[in-house]
Amino acid sequence: MNGVKWSPKIDPYKVVALYRKFMDGQADMADVDDVGIGLHLRVKSILLVAEWRLVCPECGREFQVSSSEPATNCPGPGCSFSIPREKYLASWRHRDLWRGKALPAFEEYYARYPVARTIGEKMVLIDTLVHSFHFDLVENLPNRCAANNLMEGSLKQVVDILDRLSGIQPENDRVFRETVDLMWRRRRGQLEPKGKPRP
Ligand SMILES: [Zn+2]
Repeated sequence: MNGVKWSPKIDPYKVVALYRKFMDGQADMADVDDVGIGLHLRVKSILLVAEWRLVCPECGREFQVSSSEPATNCPGPGCSFSIPREKYLASWRHRDLWRGKALPAFEEYYARYPVARTIGEKMVLIDTLVHSFHFDLVENLPNRCAANNLMEGSLKQVVDILDRLSGIQPENDRVFRETVDLMWRRRRGQLEPKGKPRP
């Protein structure tokens, strides 16, 4: 699509395998970075799309795409790349690259992963990111998993997998299960706005 490429979702079973290895004390830095950097690239794409930005596929320069002009020219010196507005939109539409309501989780991971030094620190960042949610800001209720932007699979498949990714932050695991329960009840229409259960 006009040479525009976004980082793909990652294979959730790679994440499951990493957790197993980590729990067995067998994960090394390369194992962690294989997943962690894949997530970081995917998050970068999400953050670029959130701000209508693009890394030029020809010269590598990052630039702002105009949301009002029919096309935007890359400002890179001597670069002739130009992106029509519609092509930019089509490049990420229906690819789960829209940040939704989980932007803080993506921003935090994006900023902190590159400066994390130990396997333990990196695993906590990965664990926190994948167990995050999109929250409706009006009702303050969870409506989707942030991991749906990050991993292959339907919402239900991703939740089932995330449920197995536990043990790194027990308190976080507990909050995750409670939030998943709230999310399903809300999606089934079993909650009134403001989170009150129906009688
Ligand atoms: Zn360029």
